[in-house]
Amino acid sequence: MRESSLELILLGPPGAGKGTQSKLLEVRYGVAQISTGDMLRAEVKAGSPIGLEAKRVMDVGGLVSDQLIIRMIGERIAKPDCAHGFILDGFPRTVPQAEALDKLLHETKVDLDAVIELKVDEVVLVERISGRFTCAKCGAGYHDRFKQPKQPGVCDVCGGTEFIRRPDDRAETVHARLEAYRAQTAPIMPYYAAKNRLYSVDGMAEMDEVEAQIEAVLRRVGVQAP
Ligand code: AMP
Repeated sequence: MRESSLELILLGPPGAGKGTQSKLLEVRYGVAQISTGDMLRAEVKAGSPIGLEAKRVMDVGGLVSDQLIIRMIGERIAKPDCAHGFILDGFPRTVPQAEALDKLLHETKVDLDAVIELKVDEVVLVERISGRFTCAKCGAGYHDRFKQPKQPGVCDVCGGTEFIRRPDDRAETVHARLEAYRAQTAPIMPYYAAKNRLYSVDGMAEMDEVEAQIEAVLRRVGVQAP
């Protein structure tokens, strides 16, 4: 059993739970969680040239250019906190991105352990996504129906009282994001299946159960939590 490294991709449409699961796994396995969506939102917030370019596309639920994303991820996985691996959330999202990742990993002689698809029923996604909000101070996630703060208006984690919603979580943008997933991201599944790296878990199950299923896949491929 390998104990010191994990290279994992979580796949699935928006709202499948990739962000939630990848943050849980980051703690459990002690490797960096990388969300290209979070990285882009940080660029947008900073008003950088990348952020300005990305915002136009993100606001309408499209995909940012492969070239920009590949450069960003190349720089990110070269950072010291990825020395023991990473959990990728939201990347790759196109076949050219998957091919570019292979090339990057090949250069550093690293192999992917698994690509895990969170399978979800599309009809629930819009409800899941359009109800979510986060604490403006610490980023803790909540939901109008499924997870309200214990004390209304006060973050359970940090006590913050300001909350934000992602602009692209509006119902009309969610439909465009789902379409981008179907047209551009779903085709990477056969790509990883052909490499014997693709696994599926039931993303409709309770959060703990999804995590347990992911851990079971990781044990099967020889990765043990430290
Ligand atoms: P997410 O937080 O993963 O839902 O990403 C939010 C938005 O950022 C997406 O709807 C895309 O516009 C953009 N984005 C995030 N990751 C990628 C990627 N790997 N390739 C292209 N666009 C991306």
